[in-house]
Amino acid sequence: MTSIKELLNSTPLDKVDARVLLAHLVGVHLSWPKSALISRDTDVLPDSVTQAWQDYESRRLDGEPVAYILGLKDFYNIQLQVAPGVLIPRPETELLVELALNHVQKSNKNSTVEIRPTKILDLGTGSGAIALALAHNLPSAHVTAVDMSQDALEIAQANARTLDLLDRTEFVQGSWLEPIHALMQFDVIVSNPPYIRAGDPHLQEGDLRFEPADALTDHEDGLSPYKIIFNQAKAHLAPNGLLLVEHGYDQSDALKQLLETEGYQEIQVHFDLAGISRALSAKLR
Ligand code: GLN
Repeated sequence: MTSIKELLNSTPLDKVDARVLLAHLVGVHLSWPKSALISRDTDVLPDSVTQAWQDYESRRLDGEPVAYILGLKDFYNIQLQVAPGVLIPRPETELLVELALNHVQKSNKNSTVEIRPTKILDLGTGSGAIALALAHNLPSAHVTAVDMSQDALEIAQANARTLDLLDRTEFVQGSWLEPIHALMQFDVIVSNPPYIRAGDPHLQEGDLRFEPADALTDHEDGLSPYKIIFNQAKAHLAPNGLLLVEHGYDQSDALKQLLETEGYQEIQVHFDLAGISRALSAKLR
């Protein structure tokens, strides 16, 4: 005979994690809203819920990320299905979405010619987070999303289906811009590539231990994906097109240099909510 209050008081889990997991369980099993964690906290829970709770609790204690346990993660203003084949979208990556939206909205406002559909390319899409947040928020945009991993593309495509975006999104397997037709040009090319350097101790800590290594690290110095992307993107940026990448906390200077060497202009550093340089944008002309 257990209640929400008793479970929350006795669990060794982080309080926020415990509440998120339990809210999901009572939602799925009992159709209770989140507010039931307060309003029904002394009601006796059925065995189905307490058993499912024990499973969730032990998985979380073993370190499994909350998002993989639930199979869901909120990102920007959409919800995504996630599984161990994809990186769990991070809140700081919402910065890329914000920057891309600003660019597109500003370009469309300044445009004197008839507005054609905005074309966006997302490289290393994973769950589809960036691609789908942009497609969802730009109702006339067409988004191409590339990933090496077939598992990731299947999850991204399932997310596109759930969000009713299949008609404006395209999912392509391959390495960075290699699978993109030589003549294709994009108004925004965006990427959150695996930028953690090989041997970084963070790879052995917390949620990262459960995520696909290839989505986190390039197994080199953390800069190798950018070298390829910066070079290949030049042939595929439309006039006034924006290249936009997320990067690690200490990579900004090295990447600025690389962009300059490749001939990019209007290079700008962008900071995340924690005040850390987190993204770079650049244009060709
Ligand atoms: N931002 C992620 C982290 O630090 C890394 C994701 C990535 O390599 N793109 O956990």
